[in-house]
Amino acid sequence: MTTDNELPRITDDAHLMNYPPPDRWDDWEEYDAQAWPDRVKNRFRLIPTTCFNCESGCGLLAYVDKDSGEIRRFEGNPEHPGSRGRNCAKGPATINQVYDPERILHPMRRVGKRGGGGWEQVTWEEALTDIGGRMGRAIREGRNDEIMYHVGRPGEDGFMDRTLKAWGVDGHNSHTNICSSSARIGYALWSGFDRPSADFANARFILLLSAHLETGHYFNPHAQRIMEAKQAGAQIATVDPRLSNTASMSDHWLSCWPGTEPALLLAIARLLLEWDAVDHDFVRRWVNWESSLIHKYPDRPRNYGSFIDALKDEYAMYTPQWAADECGLEISQIETVAQCIAEAGHAFSSHTWRSVGSGNLNGWQGARTLQFLHVLTGSVGTKGGLSPSGWVKFKPEHWNMPPAHSRWNELLWPKEYPLAHHEMSFLLPHFLKEGRGKLDVYFTRVYNPVWTNPDGFSWIEVLTDEEKIGLHVALTPTWSETAWYADYILPMGVAAERHDTHSYETHAAKWLGFRQPVLRVAAERDGKTIARTHETNPGEVWEETEFWIDLSWKVDPDGSLGIRKWFESPNDPNRPVSVDEYYGWMFENSVPGLPDKAAAEGLTPLGYMRKYGAVEVEKDVYQVNDRPTTEGGVEIEGTMRQGFKTPSKKLEYYSETMDDWGWHDETIPGYQKTHVYWRDMDMAGSERILLPIFRLPTLIHTRSGNAKYLYEISHGHPLWMNATDAEKLGFETTDLVRIETDSGHFVMRVWATEGIRPGVVAASHHLGRWRQHNERGNDRWSSALVNVEQLGDGKWRLRQLGGIEPFTSDDPDSERIWWKDPGVNQNLAFPVHPDPISGMHAWHQRVRLVKPEPGDMYGDVVVDTNKSFDVYKEWLAKTKPGPGPGGLRRPLHFDRPVKPTDSAYRTR
Ligand code: SF4
Repeated sequence: MTTDNELPRITDDAHLMNYPPPDRWDDWEEYDAQAWPDRVKNRFRLIPTTCFNCESGCGLLAYVDKDSGEIRRFEGNPEHPGSRGRNCAKGPATINQVYDPERILHPMRRVGKRGGGGWEQVTWEEALTDIGGRMGRAIREGRNDEIMYHVGRPGEDGFMDRTLKAWGVDGHNSHTNICSSSARIGYALWSGFDRPSADFANARFILLLSAHLETGHYFNPHAQRIMEAKQAGAQIATVDPRLSNTASMSDHWLSCWPGTEPALLLAIARLLLEWDAVDHDFVRRWVNWESSLIHKYPDRPRNYGSFIDALKDEYAMYTPQWAADECGLEISQIETVAQCIAEAGHAFSSHTWRSVGSGNLNGWQGARTLQFLHVLTGSVGTKGGLSPSGWVKFKPEHWNMPPAHSRWNELLWPKEYPLAHHEMSFLLPHFLKEGRGKLDVYFTRVYNPVWTNPDGFSWIEVLTDEEKIGLHVALTPTWSETAWYADYILPMGVAAERHDTHSYETHAAKWLGFRQPVLRVAAERDGKTIARTHETNPGEVWEETEFWIDLSWKVDPDGSLGIRKWFESPNDPNRPVSVDEYYGWMFENSVPGLPDKAAAEGLTPLGYMRKYGAVEVEKDVYQVNDRPTTEGGVEIEGTMRQGFKTPSKKLEYYSETMDDWGWHDETIPGYQKTHVYWRDMDMAGSERILLPIFRLPTLIHTRSGNAKYLYEISHGHPLWMNATDAEKLGFETTDLVRIETDSGHFVMRVWATEGIRPGVVAASHHLGRWRQHNERGNDRWSSALVNVEQLGDGKWRLRQLGGIEPFTSDDPDSERIWWKDPGVNQNLAFPVHPDPISGMHAWHQRVRLVKPEPGDMYGDVVVDTNKSFDVYKEWLAKTKPGPGPGGLRRPLHFDRPVKPTDSAYRTR
């Protein structure tokens, strides 16, 4: 760890300077600002919870009015170690979600055909009995894997893993392969950990291949620390073809061709090697250079100097001149960034998430080549550098954990993608169409694949086919395009209405957050006894924790399946375990330091977490690899040290795993062409590269449609097009443009701007919500009424019947809606592009930009799912199917959600 190049910090811990002190949270008085000039006092109970509006898990404080019992607003929780009292706009907007007049308040069951729009209210008991009974039958008949749980935003760590293990079901499905699998495998190949943890606050130089100040992964916790570093003098460089808000706040903006980022990063690596800006002590101790020489450079001498010579030769072609041509940059830009990295040394920090990884075939080399720069400079685990996520992500043990199951579900983990970092979730419709299996009970949970995933019409085709999906249960806090095709819609709580625990790698410290239903906590503090959270939530809105416990009892009512025992109270096996028993055990037994902190305040560990909403577990976590250990480590210069999570316990430059599984050209950090390679495009004609995945800082994928504040801020959805392209193609701002993909087309409006490089166009993935009924199916704050038509075999058209319009409701603001543009659901027109290694959907599209044809209307999306199926087949042909060495379905050291026993990895 270096200290010589640390920058001065603004404050010691950058905490807020003024806020209600926690010892007065139970009875906080303040004057009502809206009553001014009268002096009207309000009395509140301030109850902490956790934001559920992105993956960052920032702390919130709910202001519960002591007179009315209502939540009046949300502010930041100053006691939260990750967010330190700050939130982005989406945190306080939780209040909109609680009081959304359009929200679903009761369980509903389909009436008529699926997707027909008919619903009836049912009781929780009816829903649980029906769903649980059906699952119990499937499990009794050995059809465990016909039960699938498909999650969008988990917002919790470990509860569902435990539940699926207890059921003995290999049915965990995630959204990760349309989100971040690519970056994850790039990082994991180096260290075994699939995410980075940047120590931004202490960095001297920050390189971002994402829009981290505005929308990146761990947005608010990261953004505040990046700004802290910037105010202390750190420099920032952003690599993005688009002038994002982050790029505009950066010292250097590198607008390279999409997918060429690894070439840029390897050119920087070459310069670092040429300048000898390499931490040789670190590389010699912690990189698998001996094995790299043996396998990759067998003719070279077996010494460290020879390894460095091999690197110099390996990357000799990546000259600044070559990279500048390949990436569309200036040589001076590449040299300047390399210089900044060399000078920052151990205080060089970076991040990539989505962007290059999620956009491109071979995009996973983006994270791998970025990590290479940290390895060379020794900025791994240092103050101001980059650590593996696992060092700071804190996963407490869950109560009474069931053993791993030994099943393997090929609908999720097919043989073609043995190295896929997560489940091949977005190929599910194609697998079902091919007859690879079927589903009896399919849960979508805070997930909206019809809208979010590529090729949404193929999702509609399988969701409406009861032979393929027997029962679709949508657990959701809000309406969605997918919930429309459910058999049950089960309303689940937003941030202030549920229990979850979670921890994220926001900075160089470990912490645990606790989300809680604030009205239940308030009622219990008033002395009331609450059995189930839906008793205090709006309507009958529930929470998943209690739902899964009660459902599991319905799956196995008499305990004969061996499932019920995992959900029985430890104090009385004749009733389900309560949330207090469950989380009370966790906080008492598996969070180091918490019992002592609680005792110091005269509280139980659960009482402490209910009071503060979070606890810091370890501060200043650096260089964990160097910590001495007695078991499972690696010997470094005579001492056993903890090391990394790879087979060698070192950072792996050369990956034997890639070689073993047939990817001989991908064994080391390298550069392979993207599917949207700029030199392959007809740029003289109408072809361009579409970037469809940039986030807006104020929206939440598909879940912010119920937040009026957020839609008032963000509601336009133009196609960013460089002004020179607009002129060449004959477009002006606000003109309609037909954007043709390989499976169809959609119609948007042009925004001619200098803020994107020529040859590239972009549209945010947040907008374009739609509903099929005027008063149901989606929030009217955000969605267009549409007509979804099947025009022929596989041919679909979605047409907007109007824009966003004012409506009458209990909230007078709904009459004041002034925004109109719902945007365009572009993802419908994207065929799947599964990267053959990471399994990630490569989101970028080769598109043709043409004038609209007669009859085209704004928002039209027209798709032929037969064509999208053909594209699926083309990409499937790029794979190298398993099994691999020893008959394995997947390398044993490759993690996966709800990891089964080793025996399940084996085909023989
Ligand atoms: S970054 Fe914003 S949306 Fe995400 S958890 Fe924090 S406050 Fe909520």
